[in-house]
Amino acid sequence: MKNSKKLIAVLAVIAIIAAVFAACTASNNGDEDTTAPTSEAAALSTVTEGKLTMATNAAFPPYEFIEGDKIVGIDAEVAQAIADKLGLELEIVDTEFDSIIPGVQSGKFDMGMAGMTVTDERLQTVNFSDTYAKGVQVIIVKEDSTIASVDDINENTKIGCQVATTGSIYAQDDYGTDAVQEFSKGADAVQALVAGKVDCVIIDNEPAKAFVAENEGLKILETTYVEEDYAICFNKESTELQEKVNAALKELIADGTVEKIVNKYIPAE
Ligand code: GLN
Repeated sequence: MKNSKKLIAVLAVIAIIAAVFAACTASNNGDEDTTAPTSEAAALSTVTEGKLTMATNAAFPPYEFIEGDKIVGIDAEVAQAIADKLGLELEIVDTEFDSIIPGVQSGKFDMGMAGMTVTDERLQTVNFSDTYAKGVQVIIVKEDSTIASVDDINENTKIGCQVATTGSIYAQDDYGTDAVQEFSKGADAVQALVAGKVDCVIIDNEPAKAFVAENEGLKILETTYVEEDYAICFNKESTELQEKVNAALKELIADGTVEKIVNKYIPAE
């Protein structure tokens, strides 16, 4: 009886040593695995595992707009190509433009991609990827408008803008907050122009072209207002994701994918 108890005790100790040894070996293998991940997705931490959650405002053609029940456009397609490279499933969330940065900051979204201009002020709260497109702020007026150039705009001009956009920020800086009327969507600002409620709309050039094409009696003034760079915004903590997205973006620019997508939506004039 005594001997068999001893035997059990010895076997138990052997079993424990074997288990500890196995655990050590396993964790060594684990360490090796992390240096050589089987897929990018395994190495990336995102809001939802395996997904790349992108916030946008799908009212900004040709960068993002709704077609049928899908969000399409340059940003949607470039983001899809990035997600494919990272081995992640792309999920696009449509939200107000002024909710994108707060949502990225609070960790609700992995990134924001919405024809978003890199500004010093935004860089205080989020990080930006490398630039993938250029935008120009332009002025839309009615065809018979007395506003012929940016010099004809002053603090008495009623200026329509999309809320929280650079067009609105610059217009408020230049002509005062009272001169600027903000709308949830650029298209709503354009409707206010058509209805004679504002005298002009300051907005990015590509959406401006789309809105002018959709509405009779409008034109874009020759004078450009401000030139800017578009980039993807990230939470300041998401440096690993930002680096991976930048690497993917670099490849997609180098192999002509981004250019192909842009040309699909913005045919050469
Ligand atoms: N480029 C402008 C900005 O970043 C407008 C973007 C947008 O309305 N989606 O403020």
